[in-house]
Amino acid sequence: MPRFRAILDTMPPYKAGKAVVSADGRSFKLSSNESPYDPLPSVVEAIAEGARQINRYPDPAATRLTETIAARYGVPPEHVALGAGSVTVAQQLFETFGEPGVEVIYAWRSFEAYPLLADLAGVTSVRVPLDGEDHDLDAMAAAVTDRTRMIFVCNPNNPTGTSIRRAELEAFLDKVPSDVLVVLDEAYREYVRDADVPDGLTLYRDRPNVCVLRTFSKAYGLAGLRVGYLVAHEPVAAAVRKTIVPFAVNHLAQLAAVASLADPAEKELLERVDSVVKERTRVREALIAQGWTVPPSEANFVWLRVGERTLDFAAACAVEGVAVRPFPGEGARVSIGTPEANDAFLQAAAAFLKS
Ligand code: PMP
Repeated sequence: MPRFRAILDTMPPYKAGKAVVSADGRSFKLSSNESPYDPLPSVVEAIAEGARQINRYPDPAATRLTETIAARYGVPPEHVALGAGSVTVAQQLFETFGEPGVEVIYAWRSFEAYPLLADLAGVTSVRVPLDGEDHDLDAMAAAVTDRTRMIFVCNPNNPTGTSIRRAELEAFLDKVPSDVLVVLDEAYREYVRDADVPDGLTLYRDRPNVCVLRTFSKAYGLAGLRVGYLVAHEPVAAAVRKTIVPFAVNHLAQLAAVASLADPAEKELLERVDSVVKERTRVREALIAQGWTVPPSEANFVWLRVGERTLDFAAACAVEGVAVRPFPGEGARVSIGTPEANDAFLQAAAAFLKS
C-alpha cells in the first residue's frame, strides 16, 4: 500500500452544499451562498467565443483579467494575484507563509476551508472562539506568538454573516506585528451595506502586512468557473503568484470574469446584488417576526442558531425542497435566494417552530 500522509486519516473532507428535492419536485439550493440568477447573456457569449481557443493553454499570467481588476479597483496590477477561486488563493497563501511549526489564527466558527488548508500545509491552527456571533479581535490579537505567520479575518463572517466595523478592525491591525500577514477575507464584500464596515482595499494601502481576498463566485455569479484573487503589496502578491499551479485559472474563467466587470454587465450584476440585499432584509425581518433570533447579516445568507435541533431543522427544510447548510449542534446557514426560494424557506422555518 502506498504510504500517504497521516494527516489525511484524521482530516474530514470539505463538505459542499447539496441540492435537495421535495416530494412534489421543488428544489431550492440555499446551502452554498451562490448567486440565484442565471449568468448574464454577455458573459455566456464571452465563454462561447472563448470556447474556440480551448485547444490552447490559457494566459498563465491572466494579464487582461489582472489589468481589468487593477483598473476597476484603482490598484497597481502588481498588487493582484489570481487563483482558481479564492479558496485556492487561500491555499496559495498557506504555500507562501506556511510550514510545519508555524501558526495561523482564525475565528471559529468561520469559513470551513481554513482548518483544512492549515492541516494540509502542516500549519498549526489557533482557533479563537467567536464572541457570540462576532469576531473577538482582542482575543485574536492576544493569541499572536512568535510562531504566528497569518491571521484570517473573515468580514463578513461565514457562516454568521456578522461584520467588523472600521474602528475595531483598524485598532486590531495596529496591534498585529508587521511580520504577520492579516488576510481580510471579503468573499461577500459586495453585499455589505453598513457604511461602518470598511472596504479592505482602503485598509491594505498603508499596511504592507494586510491583504484582501475576493471572489467572482458570489456577487458576480461565476462559482462554477472558479476565479478569485488577492490584493496585496507587491512583495506579498509576487510571492503568492509564484505558488500558483501553472495555468490554474482557465481561459473561460478569465474571459467570463473580464466580461463581468465590463459596463453594463457589472451594473446589472450589482443591481442583482441589491435585490439580494433587499431580500436579506425581508427574510431576516420575517424570521424575527416568527420568533427566531437572527444576527444582522451583511452577506448573502443568514445564520440561525438552532442548537441541538440543527439537523432536524435541515431535514424539515429539505421536506420543502430547501437545502440549507447545517452545522450540527450549532446552527444553520441559509443563503438568500430568489423571492420564491426565500418564501419556501420562511414557510419551512415557521412550520419548524410550531413542530
Ligand atoms: N471565503 C469565504 C469566506 C467563503 O465563504 C468562500 C466560499 N464559500 C470562499 C472564500 C471561497 O470561495 P471561492 O473559492 O468560490 O472563491
